[in-house]
Amino acid sequence: MKLLDGRSMAAEIGRGVVDDVERLREAGRVPTLAVVLPGTDAAARSYVRVIERGAAKVGVRCVVHELSGDTAELVATVDRLAADDEVHGLMVQTPLPPGVSATDIGTRIPPHKDVDGMNPLSLGRLALGLPCFAPATAAAVLEILHRGDIKIAGIHAVVIGRSPVVGKPASLLLLAEDATVTICHSRTTDLASIVHEADVVVAAVGRPKMIGKGFIRPGAVVIDVGTNVTESGLVGDVDADAVASVAGALTPVPGGVGPVTTMLLLRNTTSAAAL
Ligand code: NAP
Repeated sequence: MKLLDGRSMAAEIGRGVVDDVERLREAGRVPTLAVVLPGTDAAARSYVRVIERGAAKVGVRCVVHELSGDTAELVATVDRLAADDEVHGLMVQTPLPPGVSATDIGTRIPPHKDVDGMNPLSLGRLALGLPCFAPATAAAVLEILHRGDIKIAGIHAVVIGRSPVVGKPASLLLLAEDATVTICHSRTTDLASIVHEADVVVAAVGRPKMIGKGFIRPGAVVIDVGTNVTESGLVGDVDADAVASVAGALTPVPGGVGPVTTMLLLRNTTSAAAL
């Protein structure tokens, strides 16, 4: 079984980002990512710290705007950052305050700054194969497959989860690279037998260790997007210990999709700064 090591992949991507940052700085531009943290959610806060640390490593300026959970303040902050020429990348960390829709907030992020693909226009452009920023987590799935030398064209990929931030965009990205894609969700009947047909499984469910050995065809590639905080620590949607004996390749949790996601967010920021 091949371990698809997201940390070393992220380090490799990071070296390219450092070069991009240097070129931009020489041209007088400091690539800047603004992260809006709309409330006090502990997991969101700790993820934002991870982004800040990653940004510091590669030289991207990262400015975090910690808010109180007030909707008007959130909208005003996003609008101000959207109009600020010194901000190249703009993302709003979820969860959003109760009653605030991700679509409404995403719409306020200009597509050229939308480094985490939150604007519905970005998802629409992705569906049409037009240039855009895809949500970084979905893009990380493809990046890992590329860097792991996993064939995509012609394979059967089964994506479990259809959220606008992971499942749907990951499915569109796989489709754009000529995979045959099946999307599963909470109403899918006989999930195990569908997943068992996959050459590549993308698990983006949010249920700890839900995907066991019986779901995986021998030799299949398994990308575990899940990050579930449990009493025994951070675990994925895949029961890694069980699946390792049957999968051809597997991403660990932690250390798989997460670090690649963070680095792609920063790479998207340098791309946005170069526009
Ligand atoms: P989400 O919005 O809650 O979506 C979960 C999806 O899983 C939904 O489409 C849901 O189906 C489906 N689902 C739920 N129970 C199911 C079941 N029993 N069988 C089949 N499908 C089921 O979650 P998300 O934002 O996509 O995140 C998914 C996971 O990825 C979470 O663990 C999250 O923490 C993690 N994540 C990781 C990163 C990273 O950087 N590593 C980034 C983002 C998210 P319905 O649509 O029918 O409800």
